[in-house]
Amino acid sequence: MTTVGFIGLGIMGGPMSAHLVAAGHDVRGYDVHADAVARLVDAGGTAARDVAGAVAGADVVITMLPNHPQVEEVVLGPGGVLDSARPGTLLIDMSTIRPETSIAVAEAATAKEVRVLDAPVSGGEAGAKQATLSVMVGGEERDFADARPLLDALGKTIVHVGPHGAGQVVKAANQLLVGGIYGLVGEAIVLMEASGVDAKTGLDVLAGGLAANRILDLKRESMVARQFQPGFRIDLHHKDMGIALAAARQADVALPLTGLVAQLVAAGRAMGYGSLDHSALLKVTEQLSGR
Ligand code: NAD
Repeated sequence: MTTVGFIGLGIMGGPMSAHLVAAGHDVRGYDVHADAVARLVDAGGTAARDVAGAVAGADVVITMLPNHPQVEEVVLGPGGVLDSARPGTLLIDMSTIRPETSIAVAEAATAKEVRVLDAPVSGGEAGAKQATLSVMVGGEERDFADARPLLDALGKTIVHVGPHGAGQVVKAANQLLVGGIYGLVGEAIVLMEASGVDAKTGLDVLAGGLAANRILDLKRESMVARQFQPGFRIDLHHKDMGIALAAARQADVALPLTGLVAQLVAAGRAMGYGSLDHSALLKVTEQLSGR
């Protein structure tokens, strides 16, 4: 049994922390929203009153927070993880944030003898609930090996992809691909419908050919039916496209299609679709086409 401090018990962190309880670990959870902590207690975890309370006595601390400002506050800020963690503690940040923040967190943690992995995930709320997430992990091999039993309780595809920040780079690559595929599936639907072709029938054929992909498999029916409840909100994808473009700048590479996808996502947000699922990028193409 491992004592785990879990900070950020939202859409993803809620079910993930409950899986760790079910796997027999002592999980002490903290979230700024009391309801989220209460759900962990219902699942058999323990409530912490603040970050320090979740970290005290923990062997492993997991953070699952919205973006880099929250990670900086919770980990580096006063009363944060690095103020309370004992030397040797393993911090696994599973939030999707900029690679450069993951690297900065790792540097600050090393100075306090705290070990760190960046371990963002793919698979969405369903993957969190079913413990089928893909986890892309950056950091030291030895720390990855120590984290592996916990990560196995959360996901199916768990891969060490490189040093600190590498997990976030792979996640950024995931998000540019996912955004691009959603955008293009939306364009395919708009083209077929505007040409008088039944889009559902057309996509059924495409799903058996070279264009087959999981988004076509899982989302073509809901997209044709215009069902856009999240899932993964356009607002969060907008954040992730910013991370992808910042990572591209950092790596000094040109990613022109990623730039276009980022503009499409930004347009979706500007059109008021930020709280809809990212499959609602279809609505942006419809609006651009006057439909
Ligand atoms: P969420 O908003 O549902 O959960 C985040 C939680 O963090 C909230 O409960 C919030 O109250 C809490 N929080 C914020 N600031 C805090 C602080 N200072 N101290 C303690 N708690 C704090 O978001 P989510 O959908 O669970 O996403 C979390 C991360 O996972 C994000 O980086 C997101 O990009 C990534 N992600 C989400 C999905 C998805 O489908 N939702 C999929 C893959 C990755």
